Amino acid sequence: MNDLKITGIDVTLCETRVKGNFADSTRNVETIGFAVVDVSTDQGLHGIGVTYHEVGGEAIRDFIKYAIEPKMIGRSPFETEVLYEENFHYMRGVGRKGLAFCAYSAVDIALWDLKGKALGMPLFRLLGGTNPEVPIYASGGWTSYSTEELVAEAKMMVSKGYKKIKLKVGVEGGNNPDEDVRRVAAVREAIGPDIGFMLDANNVWRAATAIQFANKIREYNIEFFEEPVFADDIPGLAEFKRGTDIPLATGEHEYTRYGVRDLFLNHAVDILQCDATRVGGYTEMLRIMALSQAFNKAFAPHGMEHMHMHLVAAAPNGVYLEKLFMFDEVVKSVYLNAPEPVNGIMTIPEKPGLGLELNMDYIKECKGR
Ligand SMILES: [Mg+2]
Repeated sequence: MNDLKITGIDVTLCETRVKGNFADSTRNVETIGFAVVDVSTDQGLHGIGVTYHEVGGEAIRDFIKYAIEPKMIGRSPFETEVLYEENFHYMRGVGRKGLAFCAYSAVDIALWDLKGKALGMPLFRLLGGTNPEVPIYASGGWTSYSTEELVAEAKMMVSKGYKKIKLKVGVEGGNNPDEDVRRVAAVREAIGPDIGFMLDANNVWRAATAIQFANKIREYNIEFFEEPVFADDIPGLAEFKRGTDIPLATGEHEYTRYGVRDLFLNHAVDILQCDATRVGGYTEMLRIMALSQAFNKAFAPHGMEHMHMHLVAAAPNGVYLEKLFMFDEVVKSVYLNAPEPVNGIMTIPEKPGLGLELNMDYIKECKGR
């Protein structure tokens, strides 16, 4: 199996139009899309990887097909470091961040799936972890919800056994923080004092407004506050941290270890939320995890719990996964029997690689669209 050779990469776009009313402070969610990668080998093994998009899926698909696949044919899936380096420099003029990097991330994850399958080991064990049970929090609470809908969803999450929940703030495009204060108070009242409660502002505010808001909600015992300001406003994130003692979460919009380095050097993050399906796959995420340990920060990746469960299980500073309820339909369609959280715990299957199987009927249906 060590002489495994890649023979091809198949990419399928699986997209669903969002039926509900999902908006955060800065955008409406119209489409949930997975680009599903299937790497085939000369010995019949297949590796799978996924990246997520709301827009640009066709570009991701074509980038994999026309730019990445030709570089991979005949190579070994065990060459992840060498392949990463080659591809990084090959595409560096067009993609150290953004769609090209999402494309490479999905392929890299599929290589790691192949490594685990070739060795007959679940990835979390291959990466040095021992515990298949990973805490996971529930995530939703859109700014487009009324306070009643928000409270109802929070209660639903708690009734499903989640010990921690995350909701959005920044109603009316961030122009009514006092209404956000009332919504946060209503949710804390509804869920009681023992449920972990996190907030996500999705980049909406400037540092001064975010600090003012954070100080108004301090009494509601907020476990972390995510992206209070624009993700690239690293000085603003650092300013936020100086103005409040609520821990700061960010990183879902960051790419590669270089972006993460700057968050750490500028004291602009407490809980690092990078997404392996964007930052460069498992290969780059393992470096980022090591960096987060060196800076003694918590690691809690963004969404994509089936892509991230092995990493959090293996990371000494891994705290929890995020389950976005909005992804339920596409997740249930794309995978066969993907594990689901029970009482706030995701249990990783003891199967080789990622331990996931594609629903090929659905994949074929997506190809036909
Ligand atoms: Mg977020």
